[in-house]
Amino acid sequence: NKQVFLNDYVSGFPEESNLYLTTSSIKLKVPEDQGGKDAVLVKNLYLSCDPFMRGRMQRDLPPDRPELSSYSLGSPIVGFGVGRVVDSRHSDFKKGDLVWGSTIGWEEYTILSEFVPFSFTGMPGMTAYFCFFDIGSPKEGDSVYVSAASGAIGQLVGQFAKLIGCYVVGSAGSKEKVELLKTKFGYDDAFNYKDEHDLDAALKRYFPEGIDIYFENVGGKMLDAVLVNMRLHGRIAVCGMISQYNLEQPESVQNLSAVFYKQIRMEGFAVYEHYHRYSKFLDFVLPCIKEGKIVYVEDITEGLESGPAALVGLFSGRNVGKQVVKVAQE
Ligand code: NDP
Repeated sequence: NKQVFLNDYVSGFPEESNLYLTTSSIKLKVPEDQGGKDAVLVKNLYLSCDPFMRGRMQRDLPPDRPELSSYSLGSPIVGFGVGRVVDSRHSDFKKGDLVWGSTIGWEEYTILSEFVPFSFTGMPGMTAYFCFFDIGSPKEGDSVYVSAASGAIGQLVGQFAKLIGCYVVGSAGSKEKVELLKTKFGYDDAFNYKDEHDLDAALKRYFPEGIDIYFENVGGKMLDAVLVNMRLHGRIAVCGMISQYNLEQPESVQNLSAVFYKQIRMEGFAVYEHYHRYSKFLDFVLPCIKEGKIVYVEDITEGLESGPAALVGLFSGRNVGKQVVKVAQE
């Protein structure tokens, strides 16, 4: 059983060398004693690379992130994934079933005893859907700006906004991603934030009359530039701040006073509080997918060996679309 472990806890930017691959032997049977819990043995097929995994790589977690726990150095790292049941001691699952989980080990085979019923695209999809609609309160004609727009979440937010008739601009970190935003995801316009030395000027170019909704994925300097370009009664849906996760000292935000003088509604979001609303998300998204109204781009790397580079690549923008690791052929 090939497995990916964390070498030691990380501070600063994670590197591929923070993770290592090793092999252990495993019996392809669920052991009888699983602490009284029903369990299945799963052959892992796909692993999801998500920015929150960076948080779990550090020893000391911020006290305001109670939902996270540090990875144990003695077991493989875990995350969202998809696998096929090869042995079952659980009445709900039989050999051959496909399962989705949030505690899939980065290994070829995992024993699962806790199940969360959604796919690997479900978590980012739910985040995009509830964070955008609940906090953004979008309506036809609104001007929407999305940062990290070509990623797992951003690509969907732009499409949701277009479905209800908003004007949508996204930013991303390469020419290729900017093209994708305009040609594949239907963004009205897009720019490469790395080419802009003056983010304020860039935003004024795309939003001469200001931004109604900012879908915040990155934080830092981008947030500062957005604040001065928001319209009166604008909404900022704070989904994430990936530019800050690896900094010892988070950057300070200079223009926060815009929140009160423009009467901006700025609200954070945590997807784990919304899992019980999964069916609402599916009711919306499944017909859209069937009718071809929503497309989704994944960046799939092959083999567990490719996992560490794929995971840390999220923080340099290596991924184009949702980053997934394919562990085995179905
Ligand atoms: P992505 O698929 O968008 O991958 C991360 C992308 O972020 C990279 O491809 C890169 O794209 C961009 N990025 C990396 N570093 C920086 C930086 N320093 N400045 C600007 N952009 C950067 O990830 P997700 O869609 O999964 O996640 C997007 C955000 O949503 C993250 O902040 C994540 O933490 C958050 N999130 C929040 C959840 C919640 O419940 N609130 C749940 C899941 C995710 P580029 O080339 O464009 O720079």
